Amino acid sequence: MNIEKATIEEIREGYKTKKFTVKEIVKAYFERIYKYDDTINAFITLCEETALVEAQRVDEKIRNNEKMSPLEGIPVAVKDLICTKGIKTTCASKMLENFIPPYDATVMTKLKESGAIMIGKTNMDEFAMGSSTENSAFKITRNPWNLKKVPGGSSGGSAAAVSAGFAPLAIGSDTGGSIRQPAAFCGNVGLKPTYGLVSRYGLIAFASSLDQIGTFTKTVKDAALGLQTIQGHDPMDATSAQHHGTKNYAIHLEDGIKGMKFGIPKEFYQEGLNEEIKTAIMASVERITKMGGEVEEFSLPITDAGLSAYYIISSAEASANLARYDGIRYGYRTENFTDIDTLMLNSRTEGFGSEVKRRIMMGTYVLSSGYYDAYYKKAMLFRKKVKSIFNDAFEKYDAIISPVSPVLPFDIGEKTDNPIQMYLSDIYTINVNVAGLPAISIPCGFSEEGLPIGIQLIGNLYEEEKLLKSAHALEQDLGLCNTIPTLKEVL
Ligand code: GLN
Repeated sequence: MNIEKATIEEIREGYKTKKFTVKEIVKAYFERIYKYDDTINAFITLCEETALVEAQRVDEKIRNNEKMSPLEGIPVAVKDLICTKGIKTTCASKMLENFIPPYDATVMTKLKESGAIMIGKTNMDEFAMGSSTENSAFKITRNPWNLKKVPGGSSGGSAAAVSAGFAPLAIGSDTGGSIRQPAAFCGNVGLKPTYGLVSRYGLIAFASSLDQIGTFTKTVKDAALGLQTIQGHDPMDATSAQHHGTKNYAIHLEDGIKGMKFGIPKEFYQEGLNEEIKTAIMASVERITKMGGEVEEFSLPITDAGLSAYYIISSAEASANLARYDGIRYGYRTENFTDIDTLMLNSRTEGFGSEVKRRIMMGTYVLSSGYYDAYYKKAMLFRKKVKSIFNDAFEKYDAIISPVSPVLPFDIGEKTDNPIQMYLSDIYTINVNVAGLPAISIPCGFSEEGLPIGIQLIGNLYEEEKLLKSAHALEQDLGLCNTIPTLKEVL
């Protein structure tokens, strides 16, 4: 088997028919990682030893013909802001460089219970703030399709790991696009579930009302399997949804999209959208129509103000969430201090990178008594409006068809000095988080230069099933999920 192309489904089948052992699979992935990850830089921490022990455990189960759990023996890479008991969880920040969580996040518990094998923790933008994975305090992840390009962010390490064939499944988090945008840049499937469907317990918070954990996979079917495992109510997360998470997401995958209604927001296809992306998306729209989907243009007037609202709300929440890292209660402690004030000040100055500091400053500003009404309150009012505008749209449509990013994967270093340009690359993804909706990004083509292009489908609250069904139909029709990058060992 070509390990770099393997899907969860194929690996499961191979275990069942005893085509290969779990140990062989895990070893094959590590072989690839050792060969290529010095260049790609997808991982911050590798867990080969524990992974091999786990592999042996599953192999024994298979030998004894014991019942297999859904992800039994499936290697998984996990973004380094999800707490893993006994394994360093850094948030790609100097602030948490030596943090070893004493507990597992709920998603980790669920993955372990379903038999998945964690192979390592992936690189990201520090505290998930960014769109390119260049804000990591440790390393810059490269796009497996073109090593000069960014993999997107903030879950760039997880996205690159799946594309590079280092794991068939990776876990990421999406606060404003951080699963969908890197999935589009790296040419794989990124699923951001409805807010509350997957527990955030043990996910180190960036913006609590927007953060949501989701998956990177090679296929939509694998995304359904992944979601099935990690979703579900959790009493440890007060915002966890009570009644929505027990469906079998794979059951209706093959039902097709005949008769489904899709909306195309006309504002999304005006200025600012790269022409090659537009062409690829319109080609997909044609395919959807041919398969019996009804597609219609409509107005969704939220784009620009939504971006501002997102950056106000997310920064406000970040400034509150990150206040705990003061060198005393949590995080890196400076050696350079004379009293408690300089201890806190210098710990934070030395421990945080510049983007994180920018967000904290912005957040503190919009929450300050003089500006609260002008910024934070206004953003929260707009948030209500975004929700109701989407609500109206879903009265008419089963799903909304949108670009993921207005731009193709850009050069490493190209936007680092221009935060506004970087923020603009989230224009099509952030409103989904503002409204708490589910959305999926799947590959829909390539640019002339050979860079992946993604298409986004946005669904109504808890309608993951519909979303997965339509994404699966389009994916099958496009036939792109077997296309993988050819990796180089050196630049
Ligand atoms: N790029 C966005 C930001 O920088 C989204 C990040 C995310 O989804 N974690 O805030």
